[in-house]
Amino acid sequence: MSEDFYSALGVSRDADEEEIKQAYRKKAAEYHPDVSDEPDAEEKFKRVKKAKEVLLDDEKRRMYDQMGHERFAEAEKRGATDSDRGAGAGGMGAGGMGGAGGMGGMNDIFEQFFGGGGRSRSRSGPQQGSDLKTRLRIDLGDAYEGVTKQLSVTRPERCPDCDGAGHPPDADARTCSACNGQGQRTTVRQTPLGRVQQTETCPECAGEGTVYSERCSTCRGDGQVKNEATLQVEIPAGIRDGQTLRMEREGAPGENGGPNGDLLVEIRIDDHDRFERDGDDLRTRQPISFTQAVFGDTVEVPTLDGSVEMDVPAGTQSGETFRLRGKGMPRLQRRGHGDMYVQVRIVTPEDLNDEQREALEAFAEAGGEDIDVEQGFFEKLRQSF
Ligand SMILES: [Zn+2]
Ligand SMILES: [Zn+2]
Repeated sequence: MSEDFYSALGVSRDADEEEIKQAYRKKAAEYHPDVSDEPDAEEKFKRVKKAKEVLLDDEKRRMYDQMGHERFAEAEKRGATDSDRGAGAGGMGAGGMGGAGGMGGMNDIFEQFFGGGGRSRSRSGPQQGSDLKTRLRIDLGDAYEGVTKQLSVTRPERCPDCDGAGHPPDADARTCSACNGQGQRTTVRQTPLGRVQQTETCPECAGEGTVYSERCSTCRGDGQVKNEATLQVEIPAGIRDGQTLRMEREGAPGENGGPNGDLLVEIRIDDHDRFERDGDDLRTRQPISFTQAVFGDTVEVPTLDGSVEMDVPAGTQSGETFRLRGKGMPRLQRRGHGDMYVQVRIVTPEDLNDEQREALEAFAEAGGEDIDVEQGFFEKLRQSF
């Protein structure tokens, strides 16, 4: 935290709001830990984020300009710069950072990042509800096919009995006496630089300016209740582990007629016992016999879409890898499939019958190999004791 906030963003000290926002977007895109290769990208990203937060807040910026960087940082540690305008103020919504590496790359990352900007907590205006996050596990076959899954989430929903108002429709309303109906309270605090005015949302009326004679008994005045909802999630073919689907308007309810937030569903894909995924490609191992390797053969290889025939050429070595074009995962939101890489393993026969044994002895002898076949390794080992 040694670098001045203005230089962190690369703006002049009299930069206006628009310049600061622009500079921040540029820097954030550069240092976003999901896209930047720089080793200390995360640290830099945090710094520009912090710089933006302070410089876009009129009151904090004024204090910062007056105090200078070091003293401001100290004051902040003591909590003297907080003006408590509600947890949501200036925030990005609960799920803002959610879809790191989300669908469709950069655009979506930034849509999630900067989406909506500061959802303002104005007194009576409509507010969008917050985003919610959850996870859903699927298997590789589902990711291959694309699938519709049922998802149960327990989430806040608008109270059905008071329609989110928090009080029965016939309750008596009166002006909040704590804030005289302003919805906000202003306090004056003494700081080393003089008096600082702070405004906070009135806790008595939650900023509404009005209190009611009765609360809704269902939601106890919150206007929201927890509810279990079952949703259908459409999972596109080719989705990757860790990607996030955004279900619009399935998040927490908005206030004062504002829209719901979104529900972010992080997809986790279980490991498969036969296939390993590598981007859009799949890898698998295929056992073949010694003679198949020597003479060549056609073998059946399972894929996620039934088995296919693969030609193993004569003289194949154990560990050799063959590519089956287009037999990998479907490419997300694009045409085509990745490839399947099949590594063959030659299985050495263990229990030979007499005929096989003789044939192989003859094979070794014909090749000029001098193997003491009568006396195998274990036989020798036994005799050495
Ligand atoms: Zn209610
Ligand atoms: Zn009040």
